[in-house]
Amino acid sequence: MAKPVRKRPKRPAKKRLSSAEQARIAEIFARFEAQESDPATELDYQSPFTLVVAVALSAQATDVSVNKATGKLFKVADTPAKMLALGEAGLKPFISSIGLYNTKAKNVIALSRILVDNYGGEVPLQREQLQALPGVGRKTASVVLNELGVERAIAVDTHVFRVAHRLGLSSGKTPDQVEQDLLRIVPEPYLTRAHHWLILHGRYICTARRPNCDDCPVADLCPSRHLFMSAHPGGSRGPS
Ligand code: SF4
Repeated sequence: MAKPVRKRPKRPAKKRLSSAEQARIAEIFARFEAQESDPATELDYQSPFTLVVAVALSAQATDVSVNKATGKLFKVADTPAKMLALGEAGLKPFISSIGLYNTKAKNVIALSRILVDNYGGEVPLQREQLQALPGVGRKTASVVLNELGVERAIAVDTHVFRVAHRLGLSSGKTPDQVEQDLLRIVPEPYLTRAHHWLILHGRYICTARRPNCDDCPVADLCPSRHLFMSAHPGGSRGPS
C-alpha cells in the first residue's frame, strides 16, 4: 500500500504551560515511547478501504470482536465493489456478533456505493470527504487519517478521554475539547503516536474500574494515582 504524503498537522495554538508541566508531559510520552516505540492499531486491515470498514465497525465493539468478523469478511469483500456485490443482507451474517450491526451494515454498503460511484472505488483521504461518508464521523476519520500517515490527529475515544483526564492532560468535557487540549500540549515528536499510546494505556493499565497504578509506567507523574491508592489501601487493584 503506497504511503500517502504526511500533511503538517492543523494544530490549535499551543497552550501556555509552566516548564515543570512541559517536562512532566514530555516525560509521560517519553516513557510510553520507551515501552512501545511504534504503536499501531490493533484492528486488522490491508488497505484504506478495509481500515475504514474496520474502524466503522469498531464503534462500541472490541477490536478483537471486529477482527474476528473481518477476518472472514475481507476474504470475500475487501473492496467497495465486492462489498456492494455482497449487499446488506449478505454482509449482516459476517458482522452479526458486533453491536449495532444492522446500522453498521447499512452504512458500510452505503459508503461502498459512494466510493464506487464518486471516487472510482478509492477511499478519499481528505478529511471533509471522508467524514461525509455514512458511518464515518470525525473520530473514525481521525483514526484513519492518522493511521495512514495522512494527517496527525488524536481521535478521542472512551479510553483516551479517561486517561487524558486522569493524567491531568485535559479537563475537557467533550471528546472534541479533549482532542483540542491534547493537540495543544503533546510534544511534536509524539503527536502521531499519542492516540495509540493513550488507547493502549487505557485498555491495559489505566482501565476504567480498576486502574493498575502499581504497574503503571507513569504513576509518579500522575495526579490521580492517590485517588485509587487511597480507595484501595492494599494496592490500586481493589475489588471492582
Ligand atoms: S497512576 Fe493509575 S490512574 Fe494514573 S495513569 Fe497510571 S494507572 Fe492511570
